[in-house]
Amino acid sequence: MSPVDPNVDPLGAGDTADVAVPDLRLVEWAPRPQVSVPVTRVPRAAVPAVDVHNHLGRWLTPDWCAPDVDALLALMDAANIATVVNLDGLWGDELEANLDRYDRAHPDRFVTFCQVDWTLLERPDGEQVIAEQLRDSAARGARGLKVWKNVGLTVRGPDGALVLPDDPRVVGVLTLAGELGLPVLIHVADPKAFFDPLDAHNERFDELAGHPSWSFADRDRYPAFDDLIDALERLLVATPGTRYIGAHVGCVAEDLDRVERLLRAAPNLVVDIAGRLGELGRQPRRFRRLVEDFPDRVLFGTDAFPLSAEELEVHFRFLESADEAFDYVPGEDVPPQGRWQIAGAALPAHLLPGLYADNARRVLDARGR
Ligand SMILES: [Zn+2]
Repeated sequence: MSPVDPNVDPLGAGDTADVAVPDLRLVEWAPRPQVSVPVTRVPRAAVPAVDVHNHLGRWLTPDWCAPDVDALLALMDAANIATVVNLDGLWGDELEANLDRYDRAHPDRFVTFCQVDWTLLERPDGEQVIAEQLRDSAARGARGLKVWKNVGLTVRGPDGALVLPDDPRVVGVLTLAGELGLPVLIHVADPKAFFDPLDAHNERFDELAGHPSWSFADRDRYPAFDDLIDALERLLVATPGTRYIGAHVGCVAEDLDRVERLLRAAPNLVVDIAGRLGELGRQPRRFRRLVEDFPDRVLFGTDAFPLSAEELEVHFRFLESADEAFDYVPGEDVPPQGRWQIAGAALPAHLLPGLYADNARRVLDARGR
């Protein structure tokens, strides 16, 4: 055979014409996948499930708007969600309002966690004030403590230095949480891509372009991702009497080998899968191996608020089906976190009761009072 001449069109010069290439901006590109794949409908969880990571106080919304509780209960019944953990209890009057609206009105259906005001660490007596706040919240009936990513990223001490997750003041407060019997759901750092420059190689370019304030790439201002996860590990090891739920797959959904090392280093840690279908669904077989290796330490959670039947079904489909090439957030023209689709983990049926409910109940009910 003679070598192919790159200048010759194999279809025959003159038989084809180049289509006009539109001047398209990346943000306007919304490709429609052409693969035809089976769609498994999974409208209900295989067993009555606990969503261990949700936001019902809506402190993250501008209007502090609470959901319609009756409609939420109807949605939970339809989707086989037995219990939702509400991480928005905050403290004081807001905690009371959350406990009234959820835990006291609908016992067993809702479990409210409090938070503490870490910005008080700017005061020299901050740790003591926060400890009092936590004792007060436990006495009011909070069932756990949510620690947000501001610890490690924005909370500062009296000297102006960032307070990292393994700071002795944080260790002190979270040791107290263990003594009070409160499990701690902790979120450290954020997706790895948020710590990388916003450039042509960033896999969450669309998301960061839409929310530039979510970037933690400025290394003069923010710690590196790995340093935050290492600090999280030291915190877990330093507080062995406290039970932790590591939010978003232990805060390292991109690297399940690192999650495995966290789980081995800290027997007091379990992890939820909330808000990370986009990562787990790109490595469904590795995720299944994590669940097989740690059947009692991976928990169902969504971080989807307001909760919807469509979002719940995507979670069930990811966990229970072997479907391929589907959207991790339904109904979006462009996937909101990155331009990829996911595949199901097809978890064996015997692993589902633990993941959906039993592991969460073991952590939530161990309060012993
Ligand atoms: Zn959350």
